Amino acid sequence: MITAIYPGSFDPVTLGHLDIITRSANMFDKVIIGVLNNTSKKPLFSLEERVNMLTDAVSGLDNVSVECFNGLLVDFVKQKKSNIIIRGLRALTDFDLEMQMAQGNRVVAPDVDTVFLSTSVQYSYLSSSVVKEYARYGVDLKEFVPECVIPQLIDKIK
Ligand code: ADP
Repeated sequence: MITAIYPGSFDPVTLGHLDIITRSANMFDKVIIGVLNNTSKKPLFSLEERVNMLTDAVSGLDNVSVECFNGLLVDFVKQKKSNIIIRGLRALTDFDLEMQMAQGNRVVAPDVDTVFLSTSVQYSYLSSSVVKEYARYGVDLKEFVPECVIPQLIDKIK
């Protein structure tokens, strides 16, 4: 039984995230999405809102669940009896930071490994920040976020 953890801010979840989640769910027995309760990043959506939107977005995937966590990622990973972290890679700009985090995590927890999935081409430009920017300017959001996120995002931006 192999469990993998996909951590992130998900402020809000995008179709790029959902693509990584769906592909991970095909690779591992169980995927737990770890929503980071980050006070430093000042997210647009509360932790509860982010968890609820994700839960809705992954409702069709039987082996995927959503939880939130505080503190060190590797502690959360171990607590969930996992040793695999999933991260998505878009452009070279992601690489530096992701490499640094993966290597740092291996120093702190040598038995935990990070698996990188490259973005699908159609989502390579997509981020939660881009989506929030589009929402501010009234762009149609259906190409970017799961259906359930659209009304909440529009509401929040108002
Ligand atoms: P964080 O604040 O941890 O970077 P994000 O919610 O921005 O949280 O991203 C979570 C993970 O999803 C990261 O590994 C990020 O690189 C990945 N990701 C975000 N957008 C995409 C996308 N369009 N395609 C593939 N991976 C993505």
